[in-house]
Amino acid sequence: MADETIGIVGAGIVGLATGREIALRRPGTRVVVLEKEQQVSLHQTDHNSGVVHAGIYYTPGSRKADLTVRGVSLLREYCQDRRLPYREIGKLVIAVRQDELGRMENLYERAKNNHVPDLRRVSQDEIKELEPHAGGIAALHSPRTAITDYPAIAREFAKDITDAGGEVRLGFPVTGITNVPGGIEVDSGQQRLKVDRLILCAGLQSDSVARLAQDKQAPKIIPFRGEYKLLKPERTHLVRGLIYPVPDPRYPFLGVHFTPRVDGTVEVGPNAVLALAREGYQLTKVSPKDLLGLAAYPGSWRMAAQHWRTGVKEYRGSLSTAAFMKDAGLYVPGVGAKDVVRGGAGVRAQALDRDGTLVDDFRIHQVGRITAVRNAPSPAATASMAIAEHIVGAVFGEA
Ligand SMILES: Cc1cc2nc3c(=O)[nH]c(=O)nc-3n(C[C@H](O)[C@H](O)[C@H](O)COP(=O)(O)OP(=O)(O)OC[C@H]3O[C@@H](n4cnc5c(N)ncnc54)[C@H](O)[C@@H]3O)c2cc1C
Repeated sequence: MADETIGIVGAGIVGLATGREIALRRPGTRVVVLEKEQQVSLHQTDHNSGVVHAGIYYTPGSRKADLTVRGVSLLREYCQDRRLPYREIGKLVIAVRQDELGRMENLYERAKNNHVPDLRRVSQDEIKELEPHAGGIAALHSPRTAITDYPAIAREFAKDITDAGGEVRLGFPVTGITNVPGGIEVDSGQQRLKVDRLILCAGLQSDSVARLAQDKQAPKIIPFRGEYKLLKPERTHLVRGLIYPVPDPRYPFLGVHFTPRVDGTVEVGPNAVLALAREGYQLTKVSPKDLLGLAAYPGSWRMAAQHWRTGVKEYRGSLSTAAFMKDAGLYVPGVGAKDVVRGGAGVRAQALDRDGTLVDDFRIHQVGRITAVRNAPSPAATASMAIAEHIVGAVFGEA
């Protein structure tokens, strides 16, 4: 089927990786990525922790587990090839209490099933060798966990698309999607484009864009703000690699962690508080439309009934640096509110089912000629190139 036009909504890392995969794998196919902003990757891709996750946490056999492990090797090779930052600084997942040891062991088993390379259990003494300033009673060490620069990777993907003859059309907010004879018409109010197939990779807007395409309402996107503190420059020497807690298995978030960035700064965070706007990078940004949408969805109330206690704790941390840093101080004892300054914030697009379940796995499905990515939370940046392979396989019926 030569000379098809494939439209992609969203120039975040998932949409761009997908556009690149099509442009390179299917010469003759015209790729047009449609992005509402004036730059690529302005949302989740530009506001994340920059970690290349090795695959420790994910249910074996899930799409997340498979695509993350595959995604790491594709991303490492790509970064090496393009001379983009990729540093295997390693990660400790530290247990600070006896009652976390069982959960840590479960994680170890999961990680082994997911073939996370070189992962091992380490003792209290070994924690000190790896991270002289860290606390904890036991840990898992993943030496191959890396950090990178996702916005730079996204820009490089965009360049690959245009170099291959495709297009990244900025300032095109998709407001209408209509099935027409022989294709799909995509509308921005001011511009219109006819495509043969459409792939939706709209991140925080993935449910509303999917509804334009007559896809079902659920799952709905719940925006979770993740706020960061920055270690003061004179304290960054306290952390060598990535330091994470043992996560609470009830949530898809990993807990506040210490994250060295490729620019030499060290972040502490992110927490997870319900955002009052989908693109609410400032705490004060409120979107009545987004809030009404949340209130009208039965899943929101079911989630609130189940998790309100955790929500209150997270809000406390959001309002008080001392509360935010209390847990962080368990992992690097002595580090507290005096050692940090306010950092940035990101908003996670987390899908929620009608029954109040936070959707854990990546969710991607077809609606006729349209492929909708309905849940691509962390580690979708890590997995982006593998997600792209998966989507292209599904769209073109390849294995
Ligand atoms: C705080 C935080 C920390 C994270 N840490 C990590 C990490 O360390 N490692 C990791 O692998 N992942 C991490 N993630 C997750 C990762 O950032 C995301 O999974 C990934 O960026 C998703 O990419 P995306 O392309 O789906 O979404 P996005 O990057 O959000 O891109 C979606 C794009 O769609 C565009 N769009 C939306 N609606 C329309 C419309 N109607 N018309 C046109 N364009 C539209 C948006 O403007 C946007 O550019 C983190 C996320 C957050 C928020």
